[in-house]
Amino acid sequence: LLKNHILAHFSEALQKGQIQVYLQPCMRLLTGKLCHVEALMRWADPRYGLLSPGIIIPVLEESGLIHELDAFMIERAVKILHYQQENGLPLVPISVNLSSLDFFEMDPFAIAEAATERYGIPHEYLRFELTETAVVRDKGILSQAIQKFHRAGYQVWLDDFGSGYSSLNVLKDYQVDLIKLDMGFLRNFTAKSRSIIASVITMAKDLGVKTLVEGVETREQAEFARSIGCELLQGYYFGKPMALPELKHVRRKKQWEVETPQLRQYYGSLGAIDFLTDKSMAIVEFSRKHYHYLFANEEFRETLRSVGRNSLEEAESIITGRSGPIGRNLWNFMEDILHTRTGKTLTYTENGQYMKLDARHLASNGENHL
Ligand code: C2E
Ligand code: MG
Ligand code: MG
Repeated sequence: LLKNHILAHFSEALQKGQIQVYLQPCMRLLTGKLCHVEALMRWADPRYGLLSPGIIIPVLEESGLIHELDAFMIERAVKILHYQQENGLPLVPISVNLSSLDFFEMDPFAIAEAATERYGIPHEYLRFELTETAVVRDKGILSQAIQKFHRAGYQVWLDDFGSGYSSLNVLKDYQVDLIKLDMGFLRNFTAKSRSIIASVITMAKDLGVKTLVEGVETREQAEFARSIGCELLQGYYFGKPMALPELKHVRRKKQWEVETPQLRQYYGSLGAIDFLTDKSMAIVEFSRKHYHYLFANEEFRETLRSVGRNSLEEAESIITGRSGPIGRNLWNFMEDILHTRTGKTLTYTENGQYMKLDARHLASNGENHL
């Protein structure tokens, strides 16, 4: 019944504005800043209420109508970006989901080009999500499409990585910018699933592909994702998919700051860092006023404890305050690295222990340095 209803009313729903774009926020794990939204369709049906993609997408794919939806979603996503631009709001990049069938029935690239040109939207703000099933059917067409997107400056993301049969082949055959790993696929959050996620993140870093975990619902999952160096997070833990007015409201209420393009590049430089090293490792943000740990692994904290520093804050304040010979020594060492923008090694003794600190400059953004 529902299927017949969808088929009979889809065009009408598109025309009457019953098909809506919901946006789900994504945040950068190291900063908590809003850095992206995913466009997800909802159908506000007068008879059946709000219909979800889980019901609608398969029906539209089966009946060869999915490309009409996706063309509409691309157009609407660009309009949302335009709205932000017109109203002086910070521009948040948007991703649109594409079905494999889209590439046979229309040219998503041409639609994106026309829309971004009409509204004057820089291409880096529009991203495309492909699923594995979408990707595996016809290698040639998809490879070419991905290349076209890339040449024009759009990012292409791989959705639901790990859910299909050929995840690794997909990574081998296609050039994607980011993989989305769905925690929901690893039903229970056990030691085994943690180990799988950690390995995927490490592999992605080796390949120079960025990572996002989605379906994150708990603080524990978010903390874990952060500890293994995953860059971005999406899930109910941060925010549900919502219509634009609600997103604006929630953004204000929760005081989410939007990541600027400069910050995207600055923090993006951390994407390639291996967080799972068994060496003592930390990431520090240093301006000439403060010294702040953005991340420190357990080995690093243990090393600090071995010289009597019981918290990161304590260590930070000794260096920021340039207290004692050690505080001054470390501060000067940091300044020296900033000056030369290279890697250096410092050896010193503290609490009768021989210490060796390797540090290197990763990125700068104005007064701040990683
Ligand atoms: P997806 O692209 O993987 O989108 C993520 C799905 O996970 C969304 O479901 C979202 O609501 C849900 N989700 C997000 N955070 C959480 C969480 O913390 N816990 C749980 N349990 N779920 C979470 P949704 O909106 O029902 O969409 C389902 C799928 O339908 C999407 O999966 C996407 O593949 C497809 N889809 C949605 N809109 C479109 C569209 O416009 N075009 C095409 N071709 N596919 C679409
Ligand atoms: Mg998606
Ligand atoms: Mg997904």
